Amino acid sequence: MKTIIFLQPVFKEMIWGGNKLKTDFGYDIPSDNTGECWAIAAHKNGDSLVLTPEFSGYTLSRLWNEKRELFGNLDGEVFPLLIKIIDAKADLSIQVHPDDEYAKKNENGSLGKTECWYILDCDEGADIIVGHNAQSKDELRSMVEEARWNDLLRKIPIKKGDFFQIDPGCLHAIRQGTVILETQQNSDITYRVYDYDRLSDGKPRELHTEKSLEVITTPAKESVTDIKTEKHDGFTREKLIECDYYSVERIVVEKSARIDQTYNFMNVSVVEGEGTVDGEKIKKGSHFILPCGYGEAEFSGNLELIISYI
Ligand code: ZN
Repeated sequence: MKTIIFLQPVFKEMIWGGNKLKTDFGYDIPSDNTGECWAIAAHKNGDSLVLTPEFSGYTLSRLWNEKRELFGNLDGEVFPLLIKIIDAKADLSIQVHPDDEYAKKNENGSLGKTECWYILDCDEGADIIVGHNAQSKDELRSMVEEARWNDLLRKIPIKKGDFFQIDPGCLHAIRQGTVILETQQNSDITYRVYDYDRLSDGKPRELHTEKSLEVITTPAKESVTDIKTEKHDGFTREKLIECDYYSVERIVVEKSARIDQTYNFMNVSVVEGEGTVDGEKIKKGSHFILPCGYGEAEFSGNLELIISYI
């Protein structure tokens, strides 16, 4: 089908959020504490409205439920992926996600969560937390109980363009001064380990210490990424990750690019520049899905895209 499914983002205010979704992306945000743009979302807590006239009034969930052929008749109760842009003005809580097996058993049949981060922008000297330094579960427990966060948490310096895969069981946190594009399984299950003793509406946010201790992989795995770059005439394609749940690529278009959409669907987020896709105007902050059977898409202009598919 040769229809592009353009989507309208949903915004989430967060205690750690800022205003870069307005100043950098030009979105109309609810306040200067807007932490998340749910860009391609079909979740009960945020469902993108379809902007394409042919499907006017549809949400992405409804499209998934009623027009499954657009997604190659894939199985599944929910659209499998969730794409967010996150503006962390302050630190996010230290957290971990369970895998499918643990979530199914302990969270009423929910999916676990694997996610990945592409750093769109960050302050000078910014860092991120990926992994920890405990060698055993006992050591992990005592470091958590004694609040030895500086010894426990692995801080990694970051710069624009870095990429991190966060598997279930990986202790992690986005830190202040960071804007990322997150591609994740469509799940909300997060176990909070530490929240810097902050208050939200006068009380601390709930911690999930016991579940966290159960699911944190110990010792932590090294986070390694192996990015493969393909140079084409007029554009570059970088494969950032291919895992059981998604593949994510970064495409930089200098003049024009033909991208063959042969997957069940392809999510596309414009993270820099402006141009067109098959004659339709797109710019930084546009998000859309090329449905099943779309075939070749012609991009023109100066564009940086993050795409994902399964
Ligand atoms: Zn997370």
